Amino acid sequence: MGVLDDIKARLDIVDVVSDHVQLKKAGRNFKAPCPFHSEKTPSFIVNPERQSWHCFGACSTGGDVFSFIMRTEKVEFAEALRTLAQRSGVSLERKGPPGRSDALHRVNDAAAAFYRKVLASPAGEATRKYLDERGVNDEMRETFKLGLSPEGGQALKAHLGDQGFDLDIAAEAGLIHKADDGRTRDFFWARLMFPIADRQGRIAGFGGRIMGDGQPKYLNTPATPIFDKRGTLYALNLAADSMRDRDAGVIVEGYMDAIAAHQHGFTNVVASMGTALTESQVGLLKSIAHNFVLALDPDAAGKMATDRGLLDVWEPMLRAVTRIHPKLGRLHTRAPIKLRIAALPEGKDPDELIRHSHDEWQKLTENAVSLMDYLIPAVAAQHDVTTDEGKAAAVQTLAPLITTPENPFEQARYRDQLAKALKISPDMLTPILQQMQRASGNQNRSRYQRRDQRTPAGPVIAANRSIGVEDYALALLFSRPELHEHEWVQTFSPQFFHKSESRELFAAWLKPPAIDALRDSLDASLHPV
Ligand code: ZN
Repeated sequence: MGVLDDIKARLDIVDVVSDHVQLKKAGRNFKAPCPFHSEKTPSFIVNPERQSWHCFGACSTGGDVFSFIMRTEKVEFAEALRTLAQRSGVSLERKGPPGRSDALHRVNDAAAAFYRKVLASPAGEATRKYLDERGVNDEMRETFKLGLSPEGGQALKAHLGDQGFDLDIAAEAGLIHKADDGRTRDFFWARLMFPIADRQGRIAGFGGRIMGDGQPKYLNTPATPIFDKRGTLYALNLAADSMRDRDAGVIVEGYMDAIAAHQHGFTNVVASMGTALTESQVGLLKSIAHNFVLALDPDAAGKMATDRGLLDVWEPMLRAVTRIHPKLGRLHTRAPIKLRIAALPEGKDPDELIRHSHDEWQKLTENAVSLMDYLIPAVAAQHDVTTDEGKAAAVQTLAPLITTPENPFEQARYRDQLAKALKISPDMLTPILQQMQRASGNQNRSRYQRRDQRTPAGPVIAANRSIGVEDYALALLFSRPELHEHEWVQTFSPQFFHKSESRELFAAWLKPPAIDALRDSLDASLHPV
């Protein structure tokens, strides 16, 4: 981590903070009203000795010079790093030969450029016509770098060969398929190509929609060292700023849905690429904003109502996490994610809706209902609630979620709603819910609570006291990827770490467990030197 230490050594946090906040000397520290919440009595402290800042007021958080810039300028780590590197005169140029992931990104760039050329050529006429019919304008074709993989299955391979690319690298990037007998062919052919960018905007993989007949309709780059579909959201690189500004995002399913949204000015829209959201996708989202609308077609909505797995992805995110320390009081709160569902009308893609009626789409997302308001009638409709078995099955699915909200009035409202849907009295439902909670559904919850009582914010204190502890904790986590399996991990926040680089590493660790992909997803300055 040479570069980060170098930057920190050359900058004084008091200088950096003074650009944004009027600091007053207070003993060995500096004091000011907190720039991140509104207050009259200053509770924002900068400690020049430790080169750290802390808000002892409503924020009750702190960090180093990087996290200060991240919060003040509402940017992510990589950008804060660039800003401060520039300010300190430290070069971020990487020394030594470029890594494997650079080679994979380069071959992806070359493939995307090739696909675009094909789309613009006479061979692309039918596909261009298809895009015309779907209303995709030139600007979006450019922004999303749309292309066409030619027929035959040999053209990209030949092109990359001519350009001097190592075909093994192209195979590793998923662009070339190697058969068991050693023969190779293009992985994508005769498909409209959607390059899929990572958070930094680098092309990590592709999605391809078949032109004409054929199966499957959509095909994705298989998992590679730089691409994991389950940990990627289409258009996130384009939508992140807008999501952060509005503290809200919309999740659609398909590529064309996301493109149509962006074309019509709904720039905070990402696509889950046809599958149910995964935990790592939700993890990406929750680091950017707190309010999300999931636009679901009626099929997907029905699936969500019956598949506990899908709910499990969101459930931990919907909780607020607060830790009470006996002496220091509230140390950390992670605000819960607010998730609402916009159920699309039967037989209409978001893409069609947006194109045909800007207002209707706006109304649909604005009128999205809370997850529970959506789920209660949906789950009830999945069962025959005139029978005891049907009632029990519906309650079984919903009971754990009904007790999720911290607010008891909200809980009571959901209970009443469920009782109404089951055509029983709320009084009858209450003991049943309690019984189910004890029996099974709420094991998770009690686990959270026990954990909170047992470890009252220990990591925060430890981390502030000794920087070495952070490195040690991270080393432990990285050597034990199986810890991902524990649900309580989701209750941990990167804020428990003091150093921005530790936060960044921990946030990355929370994402998909493949270490190689993880290394590549990190800013180069965090790689081991
Ligand atoms: Zn504050």
